[in-house]
Amino acid sequence: MTTDADADGEFPARAEFLAGDRPDDVALFLADSYVSDDRLTEFGERVAGGTLIVVDGERGRSAFQAATGTGAMQFAKSAMDHEGIVNADLAGGTCPETPGDDADHEVQFVFAFTEEQNEDVGGIYAEGDVVHAYAQCSCGVAYSDRWNPSDADADIDTGLADGE
Ligand SMILES: [Zn+2]
Repeated sequence: MTTDADADGEFPARAEFLAGDRPDDVALFLADSYVSDDRLTEFGERVAGGTLIVVDGERGRSAFQAATGTGAMQFAKSAMDHEGIVNADLAGGTCPETPGDDADHEVQFVFAFTEEQNEDVGGIYAEGDVVHAYAQCSCGVAYSDRWNPSDADADIDTGLADGE
């Protein structure tokens, strides 16, 4: 184990965000295969396959627009129509289009925000904070996922541990 920032699990901002402790921030994941700009690492952290950035909502939306040429909220809206699976660490996902060949379905970028628990809404919103995540697949499909941080804990731990 080194102290390098690129080691998985060495990014407290992501852990805090995913725990729902940063409701005013957004998270962006930009895959290396989609954008390689060293300046990105000034704002975020190197993670497997790309760069993950956790910043306040306004800066996050600007960064998203700059990196992808699409408005974050516009992108989120377009992704809502397709339910897919976004990895709990935000650094990948599973496209809802039949992924016959994973190479054709690589995540290009992910935009995520969290919503605080809201018992009036019901469902997963009543169970706790909710992470909303939107991913752009290389096949052109944008898809969305959402989950309670408490449910995702196990996934994240498994992903970062030696593989239980
Ligand atoms: Zn796809």
